[in-house]
Amino acid sequence: MIKELNPKARFLMGPGPSDVHSRVYKAMSTPMLGHLDPQFIQIMDEVMEMTRSVYQTKNEITSVISATGTSGMETCLVNLLEPGDTAVVCVSGVFSGRIADIAGRCGATVVRVDAPWGTSVDPAQVKDALKNCKPKLVAMVHAETSTGVLQPLEEIGRLAHEAGALFMVDAVTSLGGTVLKVDDWGIDAIYSCTQKCLSAPPGLSPVSFSSKALEVMDSRKTKIQSFYLDLTLLRKYWTGAKRAYHHTAPISMFYAAHEALRMVHEEGLEARIKRHKQNHEILRDGLESLGFEFLVAPQFRIPMLNAVKIPAGYDDVAVRTRLLNEYNIEIGAGLGDFAGKIWRIGLMGESCTINHINLLLSALKQIIK
Ligand code: PLP
Repeated sequence: MIKELNPKARFLMGPGPSDVHSRVYKAMSTPMLGHLDPQFIQIMDEVMEMTRSVYQTKNEITSVISATGTSGMETCLVNLLEPGDTAVVCVSGVFSGRIADIAGRCGATVVRVDAPWGTSVDPAQVKDALKNCKPKLVAMVHAETSTGVLQPLEEIGRLAHEAGALFMVDAVTSLGGTVLKVDDWGIDAIYSCTQKCLSAPPGLSPVSFSSKALEVMDSRKTKIQSFYLDLTLLRKYWTGAKRAYHHTAPISMFYAAHEALRMVHEEGLEARIKRHKQNHEILRDGLESLGFEFLVAPQFRIPMLNAVKIPAGYDDVAVRTRLLNEYNIEIGAGLGDFAGKIWRIGLMGESCTINHINLLLSALKQIIK
């Protein structure tokens, strides 16, 4: 007979998921409710309220999509774009490449502004691209997890608005770990995930839409091609006195998000961001003293995702396998162009502690001599 599950606990120091606090697991094991039970509607409202606060927005339509980060990306794009539209996409890694792919699948003409992987997008190049087209949307990734680069949002958002376009942002890795101000920075559509700096399991995608984005959706000429991600339907489930069934919400994941967001607010967003920054600096010093070199220039580094070059003479898979098997530590491999060249070390949410840093540094010291 197949045995009961009994996975070994790991120290999750890759690009996500991150470690999950026992309070979040406890919340997930509380009794099941119906998805239209008034108790559940209240939980949903509280998740929405706490999501607004972590995004620093007053947007009414701020909630969670019932799937991982990519569903938030797809929700923004399928609702905002229709065939014939133009989208300018800043591409500098795997996930911004995915935005360009999905925008194309929506029937939009995609104008790419490419930056070499490991560098940030140059606002001057975006400005040039905007001169030559009439975009409906400018999209970019805040923290590009595949390279470890934090992108300049504010300036590109301003350029998007000057060009009369909406500004869409991927905050999958940045939400809850670094400064992100949806309203102050003029972001019209944004999505994230639960499994990185919020430290809940993967399974929900927090999203938020400005009133301008909602107006654009309301004036579409064509029907949204996705039923599951159609915001005109989802809005009737998320808001209003009478909630309309759209899909069966993953109840236990809402419990998880509820507790994880409560923990973010208990710690305080500012204190949490400071913790991520300070621990990044401690890890950086430790890695550099072991001879590691960072991929990204200091001013563009994501504190929660440290991309370091694999030292010459060491095998990528062999080292990561030893870390996992002998020390129970997971770190991330390079993706795409960086496969076999870099490691991605996450310091996200519950995995962003001095204890994690010390464990990893002492394990690396023993492996890389
Ligand atoms: N965007 C970024 C920046 C990511 O890092 C990821 C996943 O790591 C995604 C999008 C996709 O999210 P998910 O794997 O949760 O669907």
